[in-house]
Amino acid sequence: FSAIGEEREIDRDEYTPGVEPQPTWCPGCGDFSVLKALKQALPEVGRSPEETLLCTGIGCSGKLNSYLDTYGFHTIHGRSLPVARAAKLANPELEVIAAGGDGDGYGIGGNHFIHTARENHDMTYIVFNNEIFGLTKGQTSPTSPKGHKSKTQPHGSAKEPLKPLSLSLNAGASYVARTAAVNPNQAKEIIIEAIEHDGFAHVDFLTQCPTWNKDARQYVPYIDVQESEEYDFDPTDKVEAAEMMRETEEALYDGKVLTGRYYVDEDRPSYGQEKRAIGEMPEEPLAERYWDDEYEWE
Ligand code: SF4
Repeated sequence: FSAIGEEREIDRDEYTPGVEPQPTWCPGCGDFSVLKALKQALPEVGRSPEETLLCTGIGCSGKLNSYLDTYGFHTIHGRSLPVARAAKLANPELEVIAAGGDGDGYGIGGNHFIHTARENHDMTYIVFNNEIFGLTKGQTSPTSPKGHKSKTQPHGSAKEPLKPLSLSLNAGASYVARTAAVNPNQAKEIIIEAIEHDGFAHVDFLTQCPTWNKDARQYVPYIDVQESEEYDFDPTDKVEAAEMMRETEEALYDGKVLTGRYYVDEDRPSYGQEKRAIGEMPEEPLAERYWDDEYEWE
């Protein structure tokens, strides 16, 4: 192991636990793609397991902690973000990643999602969006399509689905992207960008749930809006990004899967940077004070 900030070659096998648990995700689950993208992205950005904290919520996505060998905190339902925020503020040198499902992040933890974006906390937030509650056996989630039938909505959902990209942008996230489990190359690149971004980076990751999503949506064919000649917008322009997100979120439920980088604001300082600039927090990680026997507390 190396110290935080120490440069060294990192092998992607380091993120595989020594005693490797067999993933209990169902065959064909999109969650495997998130794990693979993270294992590819972290070594490329030079973040070792001991420099990385993964906070998860409750759901099939929460099992990610068992299969990715970094520091981890499996929180309660919808609460990965406040734990991740506190960790990043206490130790800004830590690479903090939060993850959860659409039910966990957009439903139960929706309030934390809005305010973490508003405050632009420096972290990557990956939402496994399979339009359903998977672990609890297929209940309607905030992103389930209108009319979707489940045990909780047997006559079909009468609700319009949440638009997570637009919500994130309007709440204040400084990086917003959507990728899909069926596009592993794009997924890796987007996770790399999100990790390297200073500020709140929200990645809506379309992950199919073949077990409980009765439509068995696989999110294919997909279109990368950066690669397609049909789409031309500037992701640094908030108005153009908002329009592209609106089109993307409306098209999804008509079967047109658009993915890509939607919004990037490199100039906005993160919440931690703001607090340090006004002198409310020290420059060095707070944790160092606890390890320093000589430190004189005021
Ligand atoms: Fe994946 Fe759905 Fe199975 Fe959960 S229930 S592991 S989300 S396929």
